[in-house]
Amino acid sequence: MITDKVAIVTGGNRGIGLGITKRLVDSGYKVFVGARQKPEFDKEYDNKVFFQHTDVREEEDHIKLIEFAIKKFGNIDCYINNAGYSEWMPIDKIDDEFLSNILNTNLKGAFWGSKAAAKYLKKGGSIINISSLAGKRGSSNNSAYVASKFGMNGLTQSLAKELGPKGIRVNAVCPVLIATKGLLEALKTKHAPGNENPEEFISNFTKNNSALNRMPKSEEVGDLCVFLASNKASAVTGQCINIDCGVLPQ
Ligand code: NDP
Repeated sequence: MITDKVAIVTGGNRGIGLGITKRLVDSGYKVFVGARQKPEFDKEYDNKVFFQHTDVREEEDHIKLIEFAIKKFGNIDCYINNAGYSEWMPIDKIDDEFLSNILNTNLKGAFWGSKAAAKYLKKGGSIINISSLAGKRGSSNNSAYVASKFGMNGLTQSLAKELGPKGIRVNAVCPVLIATKGLLEALKTKHAPGNENPEEFISNFTKNNSALNRMPKSEEVGDLCVFLASNKASAVTGQCINIDCGVLPQ
């Protein structure tokens, strides 16, 4: 059991982020969640999970989130850039507002989070970026999201080199489809694959692509984050690790 460790999870209030928050708490972390909507956490998370209103598109919000954690516990050990969203759109329909919002949230949000974390993390600390299998390969009507996640993987590789000499590790986790509220809403939109029936789309995708005949769970992403944040991963940095039940073996 790890004790007195402090982690920050952007978007740790629901979906994959909540799975990460839960697994970190199970491993003894105090977790600071930054998001726009205040969640109702279970009683069991009292004094273990703390919330601060955060918009990841704003650099200042990441700094305030870290300062909140440091004021309470004196240090941070891990910063997880998880907040983000997907939305499918064909290239001819992408306008400046659409592109800016997806890049500002998914990519710029991770830049600001990493910049702030790099200032406060000490030797042995780490940054984890929740990227996607979409950061490894392109797909139709998905160029903006895919570009944001390829960018996140590039950020991960570069910061691993840049922050490695200070003893800070930087890794990314690349999940495939996990049926969160955010994904299901995105899959229902006009230009998404299987927009008629997202559940059927996920089921067919699973049958045709998954080596394990299932999709990962949010908590399994959390387990990988706990490992990457720990000393057991002390030689692992600059990696973008697929968590995809064998959809894209690499
Ligand atoms: P959800 O929509 O379920 O959750 C998204 C989270 O991000 C929420 O907590 C939301 O909180 C937060 N968020 C979104 N925008 C902002 C913002 N501007 N500022 C602060 N917080 C924000 O999505 P998922 O759990 O599915 O996705 C989480 C991450 O995992 C994303 O980066 C996504 O790209 C990635 N991913 C998801 C996959 C999937 O299949 N589900 C697969 C691969 C990667 P709030 O709205 O309260 O601000």
